[in-house]
Amino acid sequence: MNATSKEVVEDPNARLEQDDHMRGMEHAKMTVEGITRPFASVARVVARIDPSDPAPWRLPNLALRLQVETPAGQRPVTRIYTVRSYDEASGLIEIDFVIHEDKSPAMDWLARAQPGTVIGYTGPRPHFVPAWESGRKVAIFADETAIPAVYSILQSWQAGIEGVAYIETADRAAFDELPAVEGVSLNLLLRGADEAPGTTGRLVAAAKAIPDPAGWTVWVSGERQETRAIRRHFSETCELPREDVRATGYWRRGVSSSEVDRMRLRHYEEVISQGGGLREFEDLDVQI
Ligand SMILES: Cc1cc2nc3c(=O)[nH]c(=O)nc-3n(C[C@H](O)[C@H](O)[C@H](O)COP(=O)(O)OP(=O)(O)OC[C@H]3O[C@@H](n4cnc5c(N)ncnc54)[C@H](O)[C@@H]3O)c2cc1C
Repeated sequence: MNATSKEVVEDPNARLEQDDHMRGMEHAKMTVEGITRPFASVARVVARIDPSDPAPWRLPNLALRLQVETPAGQRPVTRIYTVRSYDEASGLIEIDFVIHEDKSPAMDWLARAQPGTVIGYTGPRPHFVPAWESGRKVAIFADETAIPAVYSILQSWQAGIEGVAYIETADRAAFDELPAVEGVSLNLLLRGADEAPGTTGRLVAAAKAIPDPAGWTVWVSGERQETRAIRRHFSETCELPREDVRATGYWRRGVSSSEVDRMRLRHYEEVISQGGGLREFEDLDVQI
């Protein structure tokens, strides 16, 4: 057993390679062009892609599964990151890595990465955007890991829809970089330097303070437990329909994403055994 193998997620039935899971995604490689630190909390990786079809890359809020480790003879260790932006003319994408303190596969990759580094990915996977088609006001709740997703969503905001976004981060500059959009009020929930991410409950409190919740459609991403609490508030307490509570857990405090992925795969296998597929898979139903 080598040092990385505990992070490898086995897929004995090759479920992740089947069409139901792949849904038009491709396995490909990108090359790092540069890494900057636009502000203290983020390393911004600019990478060159060469997609067989650029069309799927034009959608907002795309995610990639990056192969941050490739242990010999085993499946790669992967981590999910958002495409903050895609410039079709240059073939460049931006990915913002939030720097966190724990030693981890993604932070280790980042420490090794430099211009010329080649990394495999699976993607792009279109993730939730707000249910603009409902015509209702949009409420967004996000921590710093979802700022790139919010950035992408704001860039393609549907004109005429009102919105409010609550963003928790300890880095004011990361919030300040979000673009202003007419009709959308952006609110910073500034975490103190002595407060750990995923623990303050401020996003949950902001969600509970939304007046007349029935008039809103909701988009939430961040630490799983906080995201789940916000989903519960809107889905169960306020009884918003499932379509109007679009929530994704991006990371789980104290738990590696490999463990979350293992549980996800187990849940996906159960959904398949009941005749379902990815469409029936609800990430926050995975009990971790
Ligand atoms: C759809 C989707 C899109 C995402 N987009 C982005 C993105 O654009 N940018 C981004 O930075 N992240 C993003 N994430 C979250 C990212 O995948 C996780 O933070 C992931 O855990 C990082 O992997 P790691 O190897 O660093 O840590 P892991 O090995 O997964 O975890 C090791 C330890 O670090 C802790 N940890 C992990 N992330 C954080 C964090 N942010 N703050 C504090 N502690 C943490 C864990 O709780 C654990 O204790 C996204 C996740 C999803 C599902």
